[in-house]
Amino acid sequence: MDWLDRYLGERQSNGLMRQLRPAENRGGGRVCVGGREYYDFSSNDYLGLSDHPKLKEASINATQQYGTGSSASRLLSGDIEIFHELEERTAKLKGKERALLFSSGYQANVGVVAAFCGKGDAVFCDRLSHASILDGAAMSGAKLIRFRHNDAEHLEDLLKKRGGDFARRLIVTESIFSMDGDKGAIGEIADVGRRYGCMVMADEAHATGVFGPGGSGVVAEAGASEKVDIVMGTFSKALGSFGGYVAGDSKIIDYLINACRSFIYTTALPGAVAGANIAALKLLDAEPERRKILLGNAEYFRGCLIAKGLEVLGESQIVPVVVGDADRAVRMSERLREDGFWVLPIRPPTVPEGSSRLRFSVTYGHSREVLMALCEKTAEVFDV
Ligand SMILES: *Cc1c(COP(=O)(O)O)cnc(C)c1O
Repeated sequence: MDWLDRYLGERQSNGLMRQLRPAENRGGGRVCVGGREYYDFSSNDYLGLSDHPKLKEASINATQQYGTGSSASRLLSGDIEIFHELEERTAKLKGKERALLFSSGYQANVGVVAAFCGKGDAVFCDRLSHASILDGAAMSGAKLIRFRHNDAEHLEDLLKKRGGDFARRLIVTESIFSMDGDKGAIGEIADVGRRYGCMVMADEAHATGVFGPGGSGVVAEAGASEKVDIVMGTFSKALGSFGGYVAGDSKIIDYLINACRSFIYTTALPGAVAGANIAALKLLDAEPERRKILLGNAEYFRGCLIAKGLEVLGESQIVPVVVGDADRAVRMSERLREDGFWVLPIRPPTVPEGSSRLRFSVTYGHSREVLMALCEKTAEVFDV
């Protein structure tokens, strides 16, 4: 087990050691850890739905009806009606014929990529793609080919040069990138995909509920729903609950039900989760001001940081400030924590070497006063 000691020792000395930190409670843009309350800038609960009474009520009702567990895979006896209602609503939101629920967004990506590609095929994905997409590509046995971030021309070059070598080609990109907070060039990338006869898949994990008409996402906002074959996302971020989904035409969904291993070989989600997800989708319609307030908060915070001369990335509720060195990112986050702000440093291997950053997740629950105070503090601790 020497290798284990070496691994842990190295992570510790490079400032890369990850640790768990249990919260006593959370909600309303705050988190309580170790007896102290912090403003939470590390959660994906963008619309503040995770403690919404309607979601809680719907999940309790579903628990009363279906129990706490689904007892089996959906293809055995674990399928319940509430999943179908959720899938219909999700398909409608995404402008697709049908949708399919997964246990998580991670499992959706891993399973879908591996179901559509195999040996002799290629997965073309953005250089900043989420780990779940890369893991799916690795599991599939297909060749992984990465294009420069958000660069449809580079993708086209790669397809021209190498596209002919493979039987099936799948292009995967994100509509909001999780570590840079910028929007994917979905329309352009999907157009290239069409021209070269590829399947196109978009990951809307951070976009669903936040952007687009009715919170439908960036694919719909870009008018690209028709051009993108597979739209995936999660209920675990802006929608405040849990579970992943894939939306597409009927054939795609039928294929996944038959061939996707991460759908088939796992127990169905509890009914409570589907109940909460349905309530969240209803709230996208009933409380549209949540999106507006969230995006207003993000724009305000980004503006404050830029006015302080900081290097700010992105154009969404994810606001990364680049600090470079991993140790420095850790020191800054510790200083901010002392002042009552929970902000996580993002370090390699999650982001490239030398681009460590503080990643601020702005949410609906943050007031302008808190955002201004955090901006002041961030500028103050920048040189620690
Ligand atoms: C969070 C995330 C996922 C995984 O979703 P979960 O439901 O949390 O498993 C997939 N893709 C991206 C881009 C994400 O940020």
